[in-house]
Amino acid sequence: MSIYWNERVKNLSPYVPGEQPRDRKFIKLNTNENPYPPSPKVMAAISNTIAAEKAQAPGARLRLYPDPACTELREAIAVRYHVRPEQVFAGNGSDEVLAFAFAAFFNSDTDDSNTALPVLFPDITYSFYPVYANLWDVPFRTIPLAEDFSINIEDYKTACGGMIVPNPNAPTGLALPLNSILAAAEYQKNSNHVLIVDEAYIAFANTPGVESAVPYINDNPNLLTVHTLSKSASLAGLRVGFAIGNKDLIEGLCRIRDSFNSYTLDRLALAGAAAAVSDASYYDNINGKVIATRDRVSAALTARGFNVIPSSANFVFIRFPAKTGAEAFAALREKGILVRHFNKPRIADYLRVSIGTDAEMDSFLEACEEIEGSY
Ligand code: PMP
Repeated sequence: MSIYWNERVKNLSPYVPGEQPRDRKFIKLNTNENPYPPSPKVMAAISNTIAAEKAQAPGARLRLYPDPACTELREAIAVRYHVRPEQVFAGNGSDEVLAFAFAAFFNSDTDDSNTALPVLFPDITYSFYPVYANLWDVPFRTIPLAEDFSINIEDYKTACGGMIVPNPNAPTGLALPLNSILAAAEYQKNSNHVLIVDEAYIAFANTPGVESAVPYINDNPNLLTVHTLSKSASLAGLRVGFAIGNKDLIEGLCRIRDSFNSYTLDRLALAGAAAAVSDASYYDNINGKVIATRDRVSAALTARGFNVIPSSANFVFIRFPAKTGAEAFAALREKGILVRHFNKPRIADYLRVSIGTDAEMDSFLEACEEIEGSY
């Protein structure tokens, strides 16, 4: 606390990111990064940008600002997702895109009328949502997940100021079928509110009926899908996310960005991201491996008596048979394995474990067995 902080800063409860260890070498299964390297085309695109810079080629100048509209990246995304470039917004990680979306589409309590309806999201979900809501003074109401952590979309058909849901949800990994997402979009459309679907993990979903909502943005002018290159494109270090939706929603996001920081993506990130988006076959292959490893690890843990929530993401949400979440987290850390523990009601006994390589996950399974055995 400082006497120089204003009321806004005093009242914040910031998001706490997962640990990025700098000293000891851990098997790092705590922040849902992809265990495989990005496409070689990404490295080539970044190297070419640097080579062009060295050769002083036109257009590659680091002394010049990057393209604030991210034109080439948006065109690459448009081709990949069969949409138009004006239906795409790119930002510095999907966290930034989400922060802008909260600011652009959800009303705040400081409006003159002071009658903003609450935005809805699940009680157990991405813990950045309440942080953005508080930052922008957006009132919100959380809807409890069912006992099995599933979302009942009917619970969201109630007067509100909009809705946000990750699909698949985090940290549970459970996904909603497309028809539930479309039912929510329809409901929000009828009261002129926005539905944001955070599709950070959709590339890892292989459950029948679970699909991206992107093809439905033309029928639903209130539907914004949010995406990241951090997980499925192995580029958490590059910080690139994007949104796809009706062009008026995209324009709303641009208005917020250009009231904040017009150049959110640098030249190297723009080049690398466009190359990643254009190399679907490379990523289908590595993400297929992540899915196969996830399913193998889930089956192995279930067989050993762990409670494993069926995952459509690149992580599993698990409860040890005879350890509390805090005990299991500490014991794994002791063995050099870093996972994520949320000390929150309902989920304090669960751990979220990102899917690593097969070798990393074998070490994880071995550690789990040792920990349970020593109980
Ligand atoms: N949405 C969800 C559901 C997430 O779990 C994450 C990762 N923490 C993000 C968005 C943000 O991803 P990034 O900012 O790296 O694109």
